[in-house]
Amino acid sequence: MSTAVEFDLIVLGGGSGGLAVAERAVQYGQRVAVIEPAYLGGTCVNLGCVPKKVMWYAANMAHARHEAEGWGFPAVHDQIDFGKLVAGRNQFVNNIRSYWGGYAQELGITVIQGKGVLTSATTVAVNEQIYTASHIVLSTGGVPFVPPVPGKELGITSDGFFELTELPPRVAVIGGGYIGVELAGVLRSFGSEVTLLDMLESVIAPFDEMVREVATENLHHLGVVLKLPFRVKALTQTGAGKFIESSDGEKLGPFDEIIWAVGRAPNTRALGLEAAGVAVQQNGIIPTDDYQNTNVPGIYAIGDITGRAPLTPVAIAAGRQLAERLFNGKTQAKLDYSNIPTVVFAHPPIGTVGLTEEAARKEFGDEAVTIYETRFTPMRYALSAQGFKTAMKLVCVGKEQRVVGLHLVGDGVDEMLQGFAVAVKAGLTKAQFDATVAIHPTSSEELVTMKTPRDSA
Ligand SMILES: Cc1cc2nc3c(=O)[nH]c(=O)nc-3n(C[C@H](O)[C@H](O)[C@H](O)COP(=O)(O)OP(=O)(O)OC[C@H]3O[C@@H](n4cnc5c(N)ncnc54)[C@H](O)[C@@H]3O)c2cc1C
Repeated sequence: MSTAVEFDLIVLGGGSGGLAVAERAVQYGQRVAVIEPAYLGGTCVNLGCVPKKVMWYAANMAHARHEAEGWGFPAVHDQIDFGKLVAGRNQFVNNIRSYWGGYAQELGITVIQGKGVLTSATTVAVNEQIYTASHIVLSTGGVPFVPPVPGKELGITSDGFFELTELPPRVAVIGGGYIGVELAGVLRSFGSEVTLLDMLESVIAPFDEMVREVATENLHHLGVVLKLPFRVKALTQTGAGKFIESSDGEKLGPFDEIIWAVGRAPNTRALGLEAAGVAVQQNGIIPTDDYQNTNVPGIYAIGDITGRAPLTPVAIAAGRQLAERLFNGKTQAKLDYSNIPTVVFAHPPIGTVGLTEEAARKEFGDEAVTIYETRFTPMRYALSAQGFKTAMKLVCVGKEQRVVGLHLVGDGVDEMLQGFAVAVKAGLTKAQFDATVAIHPTSSEELVTMKTPRDSA
């Protein structure tokens, strides 16, 4: 083994969080290495947000083509060229990867290709080479989780979904979380027959009840077959295709593809955590304090492996704050994890920020909570044969009716939410929402014009 190569900061994982902390640190004059076994950009760029959003845009175009008939456009019956879409998407992803390669070089970040393994609290091995630094950031993200049921290998995961080059005609998606709902929606929009199942009685379980209800209606409207609750016992295959058996004897199928979307596990196995003395929970999550410190001084963790809000902007923001604290003298810099907005790219999308009605009632008591809610079919479908539902809810607390939760389903809410999240984060009240003049005719104007509290309507 050759002598150790020294850096100020070593980052394990060149994904959203890792690149963010590396970029800031190098700008503050640090010698930075990023270790990455796969592709720069991590899950988001290569196997997550970016390729997923391309598919979602294409699915929206499929809808628009059908709806257009009611608006005077000639009917279209031809199907999507799925191979062409996938080739274009892959090229787009490749371009982002290449951008990151060039940008990292330009910044002066040393990118080391390989799997990093901690060998002590200040050293990392990649293959035979040892690297040393007084600051080490763990940002190795997550991998799709597949439960150990018989025949589990007959299913693919979201990673496998992005390898498909042909549209599977009959698909089952196991898991009604945000990834399951998104993949089911995309495939159905392209014309696949899709069954979505979950062991719970509802899809996107942690979201506000109204959102779950309307999202479920929209899934039905899209033509996704829902099997809720359904506990998977085994996957099997015959000449006819793949089947899913439940623990109470129900059998679904045949399917051409079965997609596991039952969650993601932190990528913390074989990282050498024991050698460095880094504490890890049984589920693989690395516990951190408010400042992203692990239990070992000089070793930090950010992003999905910390088990908090597994989203790209969260990993990025945590990485940037950490760099500010370590290398720019901002000793109290840390990410505020409250009021993080998030969107499910369903059809139509779902957006949420702050407390659900249930959580607000629990925290503040029934008396303190006021709910404003509306449901409607937006004007976008005025001339279409039928349309998806929009629903909006404001959760307000106290006499001043501070808006602590905002929950949306409907066309355009993905873009609508960011601005309203600023208002929620700033602690604005219902009166301040209402003092803002509406933009007409839009769906978002409802958020500043709802007059009557739900329970007094
Ligand atoms: C299908 C899908 C859709 C998603 N859609 C969205 C979305 O719309 N919006 C959103 O905000 N989030 C979305 N996410 C979540 C988002 O991708 C993650 O929250 C984000 O990528 C987490 O960043 P990270 O830095 O923690 O890890 P990652 O981006 O996963 O990066 C971790 C990196 O570590 C590398 N690595 C692994 N082991 C080692 C090792 N031993 N040494 C060095 N490197 C290693 C990996 O190869 C990987 O590149 C989606 C995820 C999936 C799977």
